[in-house]
Amino acid sequence: MVQYTEILVRYGELSTKGKNRKDFIGRLAGNVERVLRDFPQVKIHPRHDRMHIVLNGAPFEEVDKRLKKVFGIQTYSPSIKVEKNIEAIEETSLELMKATFKPGMTFKVNTRRGDHKFEYDTNQINNMVGDYLFKNMDGLKAEMKHPDIVLRVEVRQDAVYISSELLHGIGGMPVGTAGKAIMMLSGGIDSPVASYLAMKRGVEIEMVHFFSPPYTTEKALAKAKELTGILANYSGKINFIAVPFAEIQETIKEKLPEGYLMTVQRRFMLRLADIIREKRGGLAIFNGESVGQVASQTLESMVAINDVTTTPVLRPVATMDKTEIIARAEEIGTFDLSIQPFEDCCTIFAPPRPKTKPKLDKAREYEARLDVDGLIQRALDGIEITPIHANQKFLADKAEEDLNLL
Ligand code: ATP
Ligand code: MG
Repeated sequence: MVQYTEILVRYGELSTKGKNRKDFIGRLAGNVERVLRDFPQVKIHPRHDRMHIVLNGAPFEEVDKRLKKVFGIQTYSPSIKVEKNIEAIEETSLELMKATFKPGMTFKVNTRRGDHKFEYDTNQINNMVGDYLFKNMDGLKAEMKHPDIVLRVEVRQDAVYISSELLHGIGGMPVGTAGKAIMMLSGGIDSPVASYLAMKRGVEIEMVHFFSPPYTTEKALAKAKELTGILANYSGKINFIAVPFAEIQETIKEKLPEGYLMTVQRRFMLRLADIIREKRGGLAIFNGESVGQVASQTLESMVAINDVTTTPVLRPVATMDKTEIIARAEEIGTFDLSIQPFEDCCTIFAPPRPKTKPKLDKAREYEARLDVDGLIQRALDGIEITPIHANQKFLADKAEEDLNLL
């Protein structure tokens, strides 16, 4: 097994300059540091054009697993530091090539020289290393335009760094660079995916979850929390804000015509989310709605529901098909938990025939029959906030409890 000494990280979408660039790099460094906190020997050097992570003996495989979940990393290359002499460069190049090469692959050597006093120039190094590899390995084929393997030799002031792999990060922007927002998280498939996509754009989220005891079980609440734990892998700790919703649902069910139960429930949810957002310094609200997926997600419904606020309501999965959302959910690790059958508050109070084209003026008119302010206030009074860490478990079978406190 190759013993890597350093990882070279290339930044994601970094079009902006000046202060924004600094913020990007600073956040990314902080986020990388957080996921590697349990490896105190690791040193992170954020630079203007890329970041160096010095492993100091930390296992690359484990560090690699963590880096794959940090937004803002475009690509990265594990490398080996060697002394500045050509024999050391050749030997390590051979070691790396042997570890990476598979029959049929093409390669090229690509040298960059930061230290122009080094005794050989880039062409000479390319040739010498190439010759050495041909002499010591079978089946090699050089290819200048689209090689399968680029063996990078970087001559810096302190040493030479060699790498043979270009690994892909998840891209996006470091969490925190885009400010804070509220995420409306249910226990379903869509909102966890929407959460992931919001974080991918650098948004730091706090979860708002409506629950309705005694109509919904402890398990439904635990499931939403556990989903948050999975998502916290991508951002570090996420605050989970549980809002009691039963009184509102009972009242609506008792007093309003069935066709508008759902529209008015959603208006209350959005109102509450917006008040919580303001209190917590958020700028926007995200949810997991997908156009036309169900009655509450038609454009007409969105008009009738969105009416309660002028705050931006962002819907990252708005245009995705269910199959696309499911594929994403599987990829990010939330799918299996999302399909566990614990009914949440919407399933239980869902009217059999909700209006797919509710009228805005009707929604307002019916709602005005209720003590909106009192209902909102009592829900706010019952809020509970839980900070949730990566992979924290909440469902009953805590057998594989694995508190990875990031
Ligand atoms: P999901 O898979 O995210 O549950 P869904 O297709 O089941 O979505 P709905 O149940 O109609 O759709 O909910 C639409 C969106 O409303 C959700 O994606 C979520 O953002 C928000 N939402 C629904 N129920 C809740 C809840 N109990 N708490 C917080 N937000 C909710
Ligand atoms: Mg749902």
